[in-house]
Amino acid sequence: MKPNIKELSFNELSAYLIQRRQPAFRVNQIRRWLFEKCATEFGEMSNLSRPLRDELAENYSIGRLRILRRAESRDGTVKFLFGLGDGANIESVLIPEARRLTLCISTQAGCGFGCAFCATATLGLTRNLTAGEIVEQVLEASRAIPGQRRITHIVLMGMGEPLANYAPTLKALEIITDNEWGVGLSPRRVTLSTVGLVPQIQKLMVETRVNLAISLHAPDDLLRGSLMPVNRKYPLAQLLECCRALPLPRRQRITFEYVLLGGVNDSEAQARQLAQLLRGIPSKVNVIPFNPHSGSRFARPSAEQVERFQSALRDAGVQINLRRPRGDDIQAACGQLQGEESGRMRRGTTVAVEAL
Ligand code: SAH
Repeated sequence: MKPNIKELSFNELSAYLIQRRQPAFRVNQIRRWLFEKCATEFGEMSNLSRPLRDELAENYSIGRLRILRRAESRDGTVKFLFGLGDGANIESVLIPEARRLTLCISTQAGCGFGCAFCATATLGLTRNLTAGEIVEQVLEASRAIPGQRRITHIVLMGMGEPLANYAPTLKALEIITDNEWGVGLSPRRVTLSTVGLVPQIQKLMVETRVNLAISLHAPDDLLRGSLMPVNRKYPLAQLLECCRALPLPRRQRITFEYVLLGGVNDSEAQARQLAQLLRGIPSKVNVIPFNPHSGSRFARPSAEQVERFQSALRDAGVQINLRRPRGDDIQAACGQLQGEESGRMRRGTTVAVEAL
């Protein structure tokens, strides 16, 4: 298979073009075709000579994904089901708001972390995505947006655990944030969410300037361990100590995600315990009322209970955001991504935490 041209670095493509006696500005022309106009064929690149277009096409692919399904929610949220070359499927979700257009992308087909409340976990892990497959979600979604609107924010909160697929994810982040050879979105508009893999968090925060979100979901080890097996490897004390020591740029805060599960982690006492845990960490908490999916044993708490939990956090000085569910009528909300054709998807594997 031909290499995906988008996975080349700026220097690699420059060297290739210099060898062919091309002027330096060609790289930028090709960048605009690939990452701004989202071209799907080298033949479209009308400001390159025909021989150069043919040669590029001979040596490289443009690496598209197939849109298998596109579902639109009543609230405008759009969920894409993409087919990869080898038959694996992933989903991405486009979330329009008044001043933002956010795309939520996947980093793995399925997920091996086995969180008790998450629909993707029931699939197990099929495989890691390549950097090209991660970036291509952004370009395919951009192609599908009508009119002049552009994606303003990207969240790595779709299927999979980004930090368990570290090198391709880092490369994809570089392409997404690079304006010399890539999409050129500011890293401040990109957020990566993780179950809490401590060594990889430390690396990420040195190597990039993207925002960090951590799925916390419980204020004590016993409960967190029962909801998220990864807690047995990286318990709360270690995770939060890592957060305290991170080299955060000024004004940047860590987001902690907290899925509210009725009768499980939604009491006011637990809210106070959570506030206590986060003391001294520049942070905010995203409270996400549980989004139900078939086969799950959890329930969303009542609106009153959600309000009590939030008030208790607020009273304890925690900055909070309440996530309204988006696209839940098309199973596109947090934790509902399961691959539309999941019935046909081979069941993948779940990580043995001890082996991490
Ligand atoms: N693996 C990474 C990236 C996925 S982000 C991570 O876990 O952070 C998806 C977010 O949705 C996570 O915070 C996850 O815990 C949350 N989530 C999972 N299932 C959910 C559900 N059923 N309802 C609401 N949120 C859920």
